[in-house]
Parts: sequence; C-alpha cells; structure tokens
Amino acid sequence: MADQRRFVIVGGGLAGAKGAEALRERGFTGGIVLLGSEQHLPYERPPLSKDYLKTGEGLDDAFVHDAQWYAAHDVEVRTGSTVTAIDRAAREVVTADGGRTAYDRLLLATGSSPRTLALPGHDLGGVLSLRTIEDSDRIRALMQPGARLVFIGGGWIGLEVASAAREAGADVVVLESLELPLVRVLGPRVAQVFADLHRERGVDLRTSVTIEGIEGDDGAASGVRLSDGSVVPADAVVVGIGAAPNTALAEAAGLAVDNGVTADAVGRTSDPDIFVAGDLANVEHPFFGHRVRVEHWANALNQPDVVAAEMLDQDGPEPELPYFFTDQYDLGMEYHGLGGPDDDVVVRGSLADREFVAFWLRDGRVVAGMNVNVWDVGDAIKALIRSRAVVDRDQLADPGVALAALVG
Ligand SMILES: Cc1cc2nc3c(=O)[nH]c(=O)nc-3n(C[C@H](O)[C@H](O)[C@H](O)COP(=O)(O)OP(=O)(O)OC[C@H]3O[C@@H](n4cnc5c(N)ncnc54)[C@H](O)[C@@H]3O)c2cc1C
Repeated sequence: MADQRRFVIVGGGLAGAKGAEALRERGFTGGIVLLGSEQHLPYERPPLSKDYLKTGEGLDDAFVHDAQWYAAHDVEVRTGSTVTAIDRAAREVVTADGGRTAYDRLLLATGSSPRTLALPGHDLGGVLSLRTIEDSDRIRALMQPGARLVFIGGGWIGLEVASAAREAGADVVVLESLELPLVRVLGPRVAQVFADLHRERGVDLRTSVTIEGIEGDDGAASGVRLSDGSVVPADAVVVGIGAAPNTALAEAAGLAVDNGVTADAVGRTSDPDIFVAGDLANVEHPFFGHRVRVEHWANALNQPDVVAAEMLDQDGPEPELPYFFTDQYDLGMEYHGLGGPDDDVVVRGSLADREFVAFWLRDGRVVAGMNVNVWDVGDAIKALIRSRAVVDRDQLADPGVALAALVG
C-alpha cells in the first residue's frame, strides 16, 4: 500500500530536485510536491557562468531531469510558485497565490541569492548579477567585442564571467576591495595565481579599491566611482560580491537560523519535521565537528540523499567533504576540504605553470587540497584529509611521493 504521507520540497534548484530523486530512490511511495519560484524545472547553475554563458548552448544538459522524469516518478513540480509562509501549527505551506499545501515532512532548499551592493546607483540599468538562466542571457548579450564591462568583486563567479567576457573580446575591469581576488579563501600565494592569470589575459584587475557608487546616464550605468575620485567607465557593471542564503521564510516560521538554517548532521532543523539541504543549510559536519554551510554544486548534489534518508527514518550515507570546481580560460581546478587563508600552504608542482596541487595544512594535517590542471587526484586528496595524518611537508611537495603513501 502506498505511503499516505505527503512530503513537500520548497525550492526548485539542484538540492530540491535531488531531494525528490533521493526520496523516490529510497522507496518513498507517498506524495512529493516540489515548489519553485522560477519558471523553469530545476537546473544546475555552473554552466551559467561557463559554457552556456559563452555559447548560449547546452541548456538542456543543465536541467536535473526533464518533465517526463518528474511525471514518471510521480513528483508534482509546481514552477512559478513562491512559498510565502510556513504554517507550522497547521503543517502547511502558503504560496503567493494564497494556496495552501499540507505536508507531513518538509524539505527547505531555497538556496541563496546574490548579495546586492548597498551603494548609490546599485539599481541603475545595466547593473547586473548572475544567478539565473535569464541573468546569464542578459550578460552574454553584453559581452561584445570592445564593450566595457566592469566587475565589482573578484570571487569565483565574477572571475569566471570575466574570463568569458575577455574571451568574447570585451574590455574587462575587475575591481576588488582586498589585496588579491579570492585571498580570503586561498591565502595570498595561491590567490596570486588567479590574479596573474587574469592580468595575462588582458583583464585590468585593480585590487585594494574602495567603491563609492555607480554613476548613471539617463538611468543606465555609465561608470563606477572609486574613493580616489576616479570613475571607471562602464557600459555595464556586473556585481559579484557573494551570495546570501534565502533564510527569510525559515526565519519567519521561527526556525533556528544562523548563517543559513541550522540543522544537525542529517539536515533536521529545530523543527523535527522540517529539513534543509543545499546552499541554505548550515549543518553539523561529523568530520569537522562543527557546522558547515557549503555554497557549491557538489553539496547540492549529494547532501539531499543524506537528508532524504533521515526524512524516511533510514540510515543514510556519510556526508561528503566540501568540494567545488572552477574553469577560467584554460585553467581547470578542483578543491576538496575546508582550508583557510591562515593555513600553511604546501605546493606540489608549479604555480608559475599553473599545474600543481596545493595543500592547506593545520597542525601539520592536510585540511584542504586543490588540483589545478592536474587530474585524477581527488580521491587521494580526500583520503589524505580524512586520514588526519600529520604529513612531512617535503614529501607532500614531492611529486615523486604518492599521496597514498602519506596517509600513514
Ligand atoms: C552562476 C553560478 C555558477 C556557479 N558555478 C559553480 C561551480 O563552478 N562550482 C560549484 O561548485 N558551484 C557553483 N555554483 C554554486 C551552485 O550552483 C550552488 O551551490 C547550487 O545552485 C545550490 O543549489 P540549491 O538547490 O541549494 O540552491 P539554488 O540553486 O539557489 O536553488 C534554489 C531555488 O529555490 C527557489 N526559491 C527560493 N525561495 C523560494 C520560495 N520561497 N519558494 C519557492 N522557491 C524558492 C529559487 O528561486 C531557486 O530556484 C554556481 C552558482 C552560480 C549562480
């Protein structure tokens, strides 16, 4: 007999779709309703700043599943449906049209949104950010030879778009408030690799700048004003200053929120019938022994299965270590673990040739590893991190020593 319960998923991104998939794969026969604000079926965002941005092609591959899959798996997807409230007493979600949908268990996967610039001119025409298919289409249309594109923020997404814009022949200026882009994630030595890469490709990368506002002409952005009084001329401005978790719904419902919705290691929030996954989720990580919120694709891909297992009172898989990747020009990179700018960095290979594996060490143990234009080392890096082995720095730096030999 089919399970009589209904599980509702709020958020139609990768985490929401993977949550529905995991529930079905784990044998749940009850109802699944997936509510998403966007007009599209759930899709993956990495192509929006990479191949899809460059070519406008390949969008079909970005969708997590096609409509037939949802129909065949009896997952009711309601696109264009924004949840405005969670009525925990009635166990219902309320949508913008006033409709109510009852749930037995709820998965929140509302993701995150680009941070907005709190400066004059942020709302002028031609000031863009990148999160959706439509954003990517708008930016592609501007990436014309000779167009002057100014990027505010040298984070992962900003740098990926900057590289695509350069390849399209646009004039690119990147304005970064810190001394190097990505320095807070990578520390100065490895962050310099990305700064050099962009400068070599003709990006005018300006670091340690303070922005005062965006200037406009007839309602459209015409330049970015810096604290030294100069104005960087712009035909369009792309703001990439990070993302913030979409916590408003959870907060209004009285769930515990602290840099995302907080949850235990299996995604259960302060309400035992409400779960969380993806960019929104700040969950206890058993390996690190503290909460971790990961704003990356692999987390939205893998975490929902851990959470779906718990929603079904089953044993789930061990949570993965954080992982992310980037592609910029001819540089491809993968990063495993959780390092910080103050960790000791050991490099195996050549930073100058941009072919290396960098390791972040804390108390002599590898806490993160990043392979740049070096492939098939991910499993070895993960094993090294998980081993918590104290490693010899010279051996770690020596490409002749197998990483597996350092696990101890
Ligand atoms: C341009 C871009 C490039 C990226 N590239 C990489 C990369 O190279 N590598 C990497 O590791 N990661 C990358 N990421 C990050 C990765 O895409 C995210 O971690 C992932 O999308 C998170 O998935 P999610 O389902 O948790 O959230 P989201 O993708 O944000 O999806 C959440 C969905 O919920 C909807 N929603 C929000 N509130 C409501 C509501 N109240 N009611 C209904 N629906 C709601 C939103 O509209 C959205 O569709 C990239 C992100 C972007 C934007």
